[in-house]
Amino acid sequence: MIRVYVARQRYDAYLVADRLNQSGIRAHVFNEHMSSIVGDVPPDVAQPQVWIADDRDEARARALLREMERDAARTTPRYCRACGEQSPGSFDLCWNCGTALA
Ligand SMILES: [Zn+2]
Repeated sequence: MIRVYVARQRYDAYLVADRLNQSGIRAHVFNEHMSSIVGDVPPDVAQPQVWIADDRDEARARALLREMERDAARTTPRYCRACGEQSPGSFDLCWNCGTALA
């Protein structure tokens, strides 16, 4: 297991994990519900993070992450009318509740 990404937002961690899984890299999100305790423990430990199962996928995972960061830089976040969660600008549906984003 290798940690490849520390996210600032939960959706960010899921976006990364989904992308990795779609590319055949087994990835998992940890600490998804722990953002409320940031401040009590080092952020590095408390923030949502993405780990990959197979260490041999690391180089491929990191290349994919760089690609995603370039994509993300081109989009602005969108907010869900139904639940208020923020989704990446490239999303058509809310990651949290599935409502179509305006
Ligand atoms: Zn929503």
